[in-house]
Amino acid sequence: MIRKIFIPKKYVKDIFNIDYEKLKRDGYKILIFDLDNTIGSIKENTCDKETSDFLNSLNKDFKVIIASNSRKKRVNEFCSNLNVYKMHLSLKPLGIILWKIKKKYNINYKEMVIIGDQLMTDIFLGNRYKLLTILVDKKGENDLNITKFNRALENRIKKKYNMKVGEYF
Ligand SMILES: [Mg+2]
Repeated sequence: MIRKIFIPKKYVKDIFNIDYEKLKRDGYKILIFDLDNTIGSIKENTCDKETSDFLNSLNKDFKVIIASNSRKKRVNEFCSNLNVYKMHLSLKPLGIILWKIKKKYNINYKEMVIIGDQLMTDIFLGNRYKLLTILVDKKGENDLNITKFNRALENRIKKKYNMKVGEYF
């Protein structure tokens, strides 16, 4: 059934509408971004310049990680102009990537932020491990086939909780 575990801590329009200065002040060290429909639509093969410049600029204050459930080829090609740590086949919502990140950077889950467009993968994963979870609106019109079922559930949850951009939970 629908549970709080699927509800993000914050909900914003896109990755540009997050108060990164505040995240820095609050002591967050690692930003984990989803790829598909979060930093790029599934139709885009490479990250657009505005987004890549922006993500690269965040590296001065945070360790920026792109964690995608997509294949290596997709992730590497999309992130070719990004100076970030990339993870493909992340198996979200399983916790494996978070465990890997924690071990690699010797950092607590409480110092990580996960930012993504899906309640069933990105937000569900982050909430279970007590990360700060930030939902963004889906970028682009299309979804991967594998996502369509999740999207139907997600729409029910958004409706039930009357979730709107800008509200905090
Ligand atoms: Mg996504």
